[in-house]
Amino acid sequence: MQEKGCIFCELPEDRIIDKNAHALAFRDAHPVTEGHTLIIPKRHEAEYFDLTDEETLACKYLLERQKHSLMANDVNVTGFNIGMNCGIDAGQTVFHCHIHLIPRRRGDVENPKGGVRHLMPGKGYY
Ligand code: AMP
Ligand code: ZN
Repeated sequence: MQEKGCIFCELPEDRIIDKNAHALAFRDAHPVTEGHTLIIPKRHEAEYFDLTDEETLACKYLLERQKHSLMANDVNVTGFNIGMNCGIDAGQTVFHCHIHLIPRRRGDVENPKGGVRHLMPGKGYY
């Protein structure tokens, strides 16, 4: 289940803010915005595409619960970016699959149009 040396498998218990049978949630150590949260399967698996249906659903439930919690705790949260870096060429740096849940607030950037499209420089606006 656990991989020795994996920072997400070895996450201290007090960092975990939510969990269910197959997934965990915790705050990102280098948040893109305040409240940036990571959702991971409990089982060490690098690839999102190799999760079981049960694990995918467990992650979805935590995404939904954290979405509600982030909105309930900060009335300025008005949107979210949800993202995954799948593979080294897509920017993945921690090889225990994780879903980024990034709260957004109106006016947090000058022109938010395009959102995740901005991962490719110059391709955000269309
Ligand atoms: P990725 O580039 O998608 O693999 O993202 C790895 C994410 O893990 C980054 O957003 C990091 O800020 C975050 N991160 C790295 N180490 C830790 C840690 N010990 N606790 C929480 N988040 C971490
Ligand atoms: Zn792991």
